[in-house]
Amino acid sequence: MEYLPIFAQLKGRSCLVVGGGSVAERKVAQLLLAGARVTVLSKEMTERLKELRGKGKIKYEVGPFSRADLAENWLVIAATDNRSANKEVAEAAEAERRLCNVVDDPALCSFIMPAIVDRDPITVAIGSNGQSPVISRWVKGIIESVLPARLGALGRLVGRWRGPVRRAIEGTEQRRRFWEHMIAGPIPEQIFAGQDCTNTLDAALKQWKGETDSHAGQAYIVGAGPGSPDLITLRGRQLLSQAEVVLYDRLISTEVLAYARRDAELISVGKTPGQPSITQKQINRLMVQLVKEGKRVCRLKGGDPMVFGRAGEELEALAEAGLPFQIVPGVSAVEGCAAYAGIPLTHRDMAHSVILTTGQTQDGVVDLSEFKPGQTLALYMGVAKYTDVEKQLIDNGHDPNTPVVIVERGTTTEQRVIATVLKTLAKATKKFEISPPALLLVGETIRYAERYSWFAPERLMIFRDEEKPPLARVC
Ligand code: SAH
Repeated sequence: MEYLPIFAQLKGRSCLVVGGGSVAERKVAQLLLAGARVTVLSKEMTERLKELRGKGKIKYEVGPFSRADLAENWLVIAATDNRSANKEVAEAAEAERRLCNVVDDPALCSFIMPAIVDRDPITVAIGSNGQSPVISRWVKGIIESVLPARLGALGRLVGRWRGPVRRAIEGTEQRRRFWEHMIAGPIPEQIFAGQDCTNTLDAALKQWKGETDSHAGQAYIVGAGPGSPDLITLRGRQLLSQAEVVLYDRLISTEVLAYARRDAELISVGKTPGQPSITQKQINRLMVQLVKEGKRVCRLKGGDPMVFGRAGEELEALAEAGLPFQIVPGVSAVEGCAAYAGIPLTHRDMAHSVILTTGQTQDGVVDLSEFKPGQTLALYMGVAKYTDVEKQLIDNGHDPNTPVVIVERGTTTEQRVIATVLKTLAKATKKFEISPPALLLVGETIRYAERYSWFAPERLMIFRDEEKPPLARVC
């Protein structure tokens, strides 16, 4: 992160704007919104700035700029249309340790102004390190459209009730739970509908005092999706952001973990195949213990928790201990990889069923005898078994030219798609040094990948082991 976003309290503080054109005018307006005392330094001024000066809203000086002008000011904005004049201001500010923004010149800035979504007191600032204001504005548009227009009213309500709630409920943790409970309830919708919530809040606060057991712990078993942080469900994200403790698997990306609360305790419980690590029983015990302590625990698993995720054992342990849980599905690797590699898993002419199986069984034996032509096979785990898979399927009578695809790190920015056929599966695995996590897909529809793998197409590899024709004999 090149710039640290901070919110500056400028109410009543002096700020200097050098320049009097339309760009300076916009900056002045923003500073005035924040309650700053603004001085404009410029030979000329727009009509609007003149008007502000007339109303006594800004101070005005003709200049020229000198370093002494910085003495009174907390920050300075250089907004002239002359680069060397702006540079002079930036250099003086640097020497005086004043924060300086030079409009449209990130190299000279010691602070930059973000795009703002204003639902005062809720404010969202969006920046791009000065590299792409266009993207910042685009992001702003998205955020504007999802945040309710009256979000500010909700923020103000919470602000007004902070004091009474502090007096009524002891302990930061309890107070936070109260507010989370309120925000998850009907209050936001009432506020957005323009209603007064004083009575609802008052009643809730009185009731809350009597409730001590109602916020016992709970476990959320959540599927994080196959890799891309965009592929977690809305519900999964909501619960993840409420949890106080997150127990996460090895394949969970840092981007997904960033959806957790800032103060949440993040515990890695990843198991690395073939290496000593935490056992499933230990994970179950830890989860039960934390929920019993009254914590909201998010058990975050790659893909879908109910597909090769051992969620069954975890929910059994929770149920046995009489603890409440919720389960949120996720996009499983088979769905993520198929979609990102352009492969339909079923097809009215080619595949009527899908078999999900694993290359890593307790006894080490992979049994693919169920798989028949006209089906799609998805093999989770077991990259080391691909040689056995090739042999077994050919021995079972499958056409050695059946299309297969290996999707490595599917849906992530490192996704690779290796498209080949059954008889060269082992060779391709070796040649491309495939490493987990990878998913193997076999069947007629898999040939779609060669034409339609749309995500990171530069990493689509089509592997054909063309046998070299015998050398012509030269007589
Ligand atoms: N519950 C998970 C599966 C866990 S088992 C799900 O529903 O997807 C772990 C295996 O899933 C890996 O060995 C690999 O075969 C597959 N897998 C998980 N993420 C993957 C990804 N991004 N790309 C390819 N395969 C993946």
